[in-house]
Amino acid sequence: MTKAQFDIIIVGGGLVGVSLALALRQQGLAIAMVEAVPPRVAQQPGFDARTLALSWTSHQVLSALGLWAEIAPHVTPMEHIHVSDKGHFGFTRLHARDYHVPALGYVIEIQRLGKLLYETLEQTDVTRFCPATLEQANRDGNTWELTIRGESGPMTLTTGLLIGADGAQSPLRQQLQLTTREKDYQQSAIVTTVSTSLAHDNTAFERFTPKGPIALLPMTHDRQALIWTLDNGDFAPLMALSDELFLQQVQQSFGYRRGKFLRVGKRMSYPLKFIHCEEQVREGFVLLGNAAHTLHPVAAQGFNLCLRDIAELAEVVVNAKLAGNDFASLATLDTYQARVNQYQSKTIKITDSIVKYFSDDPYLLTKTRNAGLVLLDTLPMLKRRFVKRTMGTAGNLPKLCRGLEL
Ligand SMILES: Cc1cc2nc3c(=O)[nH]c(=O)nc-3n(C[C@H](O)[C@H](O)[C@H](O)COP(=O)(O)OP(=O)(O)OC[C@H]3O[C@@H](n4cnc5c(N)ncnc54)[C@H](O)[C@@H]3O)c2cc1C
Repeated sequence: MTKAQFDIIIVGGGLVGVSLALALRQQGLAIAMVEAVPPRVAQQPGFDARTLALSWTSHQVLSALGLWAEIAPHVTPMEHIHVSDKGHFGFTRLHARDYHVPALGYVIEIQRLGKLLYETLEQTDVTRFCPATLEQANRDGNTWELTIRGESGPMTLTTGLLIGADGAQSPLRQQLQLTTREKDYQQSAIVTTVSTSLAHDNTAFERFTPKGPIALLPMTHDRQALIWTLDNGDFAPLMALSDELFLQQVQQSFGYRRGKFLRVGKRMSYPLKFIHCEEQVREGFVLLGNAAHTLHPVAAQGFNLCLRDIAELAEVVVNAKLAGNDFASLATLDTYQARVNQYQSKTIKITDSIVKYFSDDPYLLTKTRNAGLVLLDTLPMLKRRFVKRTMGTAGNLPKLCRGLEL
């Protein structure tokens, strides 16, 4: 059986696995990535029909990695964000110009981003095993021995640092018996593309409706991405509607702030679950991406949080290597865990509070969230803190998040 040795092996080549490989390229490390599904097939779970809102900080990371020039022609800047509660007076507006940035964030189709990142990866010396599935990971002293199965049969790979970026159901997390905190929201997101009679004007909307939050994100060619989160009871009947009746429902729930809803694309649905694994590092091992934390999409923070983790991890690994230390040691990886703990917890807490306050609809909660939106709009300090979270600029930022090379 063939055996190959690498400094770092990343299992999972979704957005997170590929981004980490790109962050660590050109650092004198032998890196391999193992991915089960080829990048250009429709079933590739990382590169599907979703649209991503990238935060300002994610833009900084992608710029520092030299990737933004390729990405820029395909993004739509979010210059304004409008948050409101349908049928109530509370709302808040955020404008990029108030914070001296060209955009509060950028919208891109996940398929497009995945393709661009993967094509860049193909030009690097990162070794790709794809399609290939990890079957077994065993630790022997300071080394991992992995059995993977590709098209030409099984192979053995060895490494000192194993990264589990294998998605929400993470087989690696399960094999290592890392415990998780999980919550089934009993909700699903309907994701599609719409066009409206009014131009999007680079404005993103987050509108809380009695049926659940609707996000409308500006896209290229004057399209808009619609992400509607619904309780499971409401979701199936809406998915079953004809396009015309579905548009009527969207119109009724969202209102006329974008004029008339004219066209809708293919509808996709995603069941929503929260998963958090507290123990994300072990000697020679890091759990990353959805495998470490899967968030509700209401605050559009999932991948943004992953990119921040990647920026921290890449910095810790490269610093350890430059100092002549073992970058796979528990001491090094504990440094990474300590650096991401607080930011992760805050993001999880905020996302969960938004789900709670804007999903339940008793009288008191409606009053509280309306008061919250009014306060947010009128108190500059509070608004600035909220914007910092939205843009991803809160806390001590690692180099890549400040747009600096490692
Ligand atoms: C509706 C919706 C909207 C969202 N919107 C936003 C947004 O606006 N902004 C934002 O920041 N985030 C958003 N997110 C979150 C974002 O999509 C995720 O954070 C991101 O896609 C996670 O990527 P990942 O690489 O960790 O996981 P995945 O994409 O699941 O990749 C895991 C990969 O591992 C591979 N794999 C699994 N097991 C094995 C194995 N044994 N061997 C080899 N390979 C294996 C899989 O094939 C897969 O390619 C949204 C999520 C949803 C559901």
